[in-house]
Amino acid sequence: TIISESAPADVQSLVVDGSQLIGGEWVPSHTGETIEVRNPANREIIARVPRSDAADVEAAVQAGERAFPAWRDLNATARAGLLFRWADLIDANGVALDSLESQEVGRPSWGPYGVGGQVRFIAGQADKVQGVSLPTYSPDTVGYTLREPYGVVGAIIPWNAPGPMFATEVAAAIAAGNTIVIKPAEDAPLTPLALAKLALEAGIPAGVINVVTGYGGEAGAAIPEHPRIRRIGFTGSPQTGRTIMAACARNLTPLHLELGGKSPQVIFADADLDTAIPAIAAGITLNTGQICAAGSRVVVERSVHQEVVERLAAAMQKVTVGPWHQRVNMGPLINEKQHERVCGYIDIGKEQGATLVTGGGRPQGAEFADGWFVEPTLFDNVSPDMRIAQEEIFGPVLSVIPVDDEQQAIEVANGVEYGLVASVWTQSVGRAVRMSRALQAGQVGVNNALGAGVIGGPFGGYKNSGFGRTMGADSVLDWTQIKTVSMRE
Ligand code: NAD
Repeated sequence: TIISESAPADVQSLVVDGSQLIGGEWVPSHTGETIEVRNPANREIIARVPRSDAADVEAAVQAGERAFPAWRDLNATARAGLLFRWADLIDANGVALDSLESQEVGRPSWGPYGVGGQVRFIAGQADKVQGVSLPTYSPDTVGYTLREPYGVVGAIIPWNAPGPMFATEVAAAIAAGNTIVIKPAEDAPLTPLALAKLALEAGIPAGVINVVTGYGGEAGAAIPEHPRIRRIGFTGSPQTGRTIMAACARNLTPLHLELGGKSPQVIFADADLDTAIPAIAAGITLNTGQICAAGSRVVVERSVHQEVVERLAAAMQKVTVGPWHQRVNMGPLINEKQHERVCGYIDIGKEQGATLVTGGGRPQGAEFADGWFVEPTLFDNVSPDMRIAQEEIFGPVLSVIPVDDEQQAIEVANGVEYGLVASVWTQSVGRAVRMSRALQAGQVGVNNALGAGVIGGPFGGYKNSGFGRTMGADSVLDWTQIKTVSMRE
């Protein structure tokens, strides 16, 4: 394949071509069919992965069931130790993993991979899963709770940050003693498969991690529909989240959902714009705006509105766009569907009367001809009810909504179905305190664009952005069920 022919040896050694991981074996789909994975910057095929369906998911569930008793009974410190080894291998392959993920997602390099640290944070919780001792009615009785794994659990992840999503979901589930069947997105399965390969190398036993590749409607749908998968984690769009929750309802399978966002960046007149403007421009163009946490609405106090628009436009025009290997700030969108969606929203913004300030099209030049590129785009004079102010675009499109005061800022910021991240930019402590309480979001950043900079902050949504949290101190506990034991003499 092209990736293995052109890539450095360390990247080549991580690429799994044409197979998936079931029960510790690299196997094709039972159908023998494959899906092409393409570089979104030029549409070249970089690898093929199996196109699996319910029969492959069934095989993976059986592999997980076979591995489960020994994995559950392995002492928790030993489980943690294997996860720490996995984290070390992720660090050791950090440059190659970053390069691989850049190619399949189409993003520029983000430097050495930080995912090992996240796995280590979760691994540290494995042997701290504790129950409580319970008071009893008489001295001949003792009572306590046990935190037990579910058995075989399932996860489905999106393409925008495939490595971090894979590593954190898998680490938390297996740290608790579960075994897992996980389906990466069809557009970006290579980094997840590479991480699974490193997990095997670290000594995590066969069948503990099973990676089934394929389309959402085939392999994906088979996971929540499987009656012996005991818990589900899903990250993706609200639309698919509803489909998955409906399937889970039929099987009474518990789940957590990490869905989309329409995150506000609220700027008050007393904000330090020298900090706010570059952070907001970077936040909406990072990963070409394909980040659930992206701050896609600027809610700005009218007295600084004009200045904010001018400076944001200048900052967004400075963002360099191009293929991943050319030291650019921003790559293409992931695929044709995303490109149509983002361009469609740009048309809707114009039709509904927003002012297009900068961007709005495909960048000109031969190097952009074959990729799914779009310019960083800024709309001004957006009213809160316009579709570009309400709906998740998942692209580098920023909408500026002027407001009169704090009260109106809160109403506009909260006036969407989503509640993932919200940021407020102000120098006033009082306002920061009030706003951080008033904003309806799972993460609030004060003078901080993506809620970044916190180690182990629980991550998840309010409202239609989902429910359940990942990455916090309880991320392993969430993959356990509680058993109350009462014991008499
Ligand atoms: P998507 O819902 O289309 O796909 C996500 C995953 O679900 C993929 O693996 C896909 O194959 C699978 N899938 C699709 N249909 C399915 C079905 N019927 N049954 C089972 N699985 C199915 O989402 P996407 O377009 O790939 O990702 C973008 C969305 O994900 C955005 O809305 C974004 O905000 C959200 N997202 C959320 C977070 C978060 O942590 N909250 C993180 C990243 C992305």
